[in-house]
Amino acid sequence: MSTRPLASVSVDLDNLWAYLKTHGDPAWRDHPSYLDTAVPRLLEVLDGRRLTFFVVGADAVREDGAKAVAAIAAAGHEVANHSFGHEPWLHRYSRDRLEEELSRTEEAITAAGVPRPTGFRGPGYSVTRDLVELLAERGYAYDASTLPTWIGPLARAYHNRTVRAGAGGEGLGELFGGFSRVLAPVHAYRWRTCGSSALVELPVTTMPLLRTPIHGSYLLQLHEASPRLARAYFRTALRLCRARGVAPSLLLHPTDVLGGAEAPGMEFFPGMAAPGTRKVAWLDWVLAALREYFDVVGTGEYVRRSDVRRTRPVTRLDGGR
Ligand SMILES: [Zn+2]
Repeated sequence: MSTRPLASVSVDLDNLWAYLKTHGDPAWRDHPSYLDTAVPRLLEVLDGRRLTFFVVGADAVREDGAKAVAAIAAAGHEVANHSFGHEPWLHRYSRDRLEEELSRTEEAITAAGVPRPTGFRGPGYSVTRDLVELLAERGYAYDASTLPTWIGPLARAYHNRTVRAGAGGEGLGELFGGFSRVLAPVHAYRWRTCGSSALVELPVTTMPLLRTPIHGSYLLQLHEASPRLARAYFRTALRLCRARGVAPSLLLHPTDVLGGAEAPGMEFFPGMAAPGTRKVAWLDWVLAALREYFDVVGTGEYVRRSDVRRTRPVTRLDGGR
């Protein structure tokens, strides 16, 4: 048995329509999809590893989405819940609507022949008390929605500046996480909820101390600026994680393997000028580097195997209400 510490990798299976929707592009209503291209490529890059895919319910109910969900599970990966409608302002939903988002996606995933999900990640990096309570009630083992970084507020400012009128999320204070996220823990912890169940929170890892992002899309942007810088930056992050006992949770997206022509309408999105082959080669390097320092598993397996479930729960929920 290896004695190396654990790291987790997950993919948020955000589809083309979801990006167009958040961007305020009315073309989203036809639900354009790139899953037929993205999913086989992701499965190839991630081959041999059992990781986690957070799936959007509105995709899983469609034929190509259900096919993708089944293929992901058949390759040995965990399928988790990434909401139904993928609206980054999920924290503004009523408790009933939030529950519907969870249950409709659970139904779509099980209808595709895959076990009921036990992990959730919201689309806007926000957590509310309602969400934590609902997940605990519904038997979830973990939430993975938080991103403890100061880039969150910057991303929000960028979104508010570039989004078209009528997208529905303009000016929302909690979109992409508030400033309080900067002080949120980087490591996994437990929420104290009314029930006996203890929901684990597994934040998307940011660079220890600096709190700058280290997720796939951010690394890709650095790589486009300077491959040498990107490699040094990621290795520094991995060494800092090892030194400080942080188990990195690396977040990937389909756009990390797709070229611009494969995601028409997403020219506004950073990194879309890079060809898919270059992105795949870079992601291969990132995953190989991660494996030099850690044993790499999915987020659900990480929560099961780590000692986070024996830690003292935290009470404070500062998300949204
Ligand atoms: Zn997403």
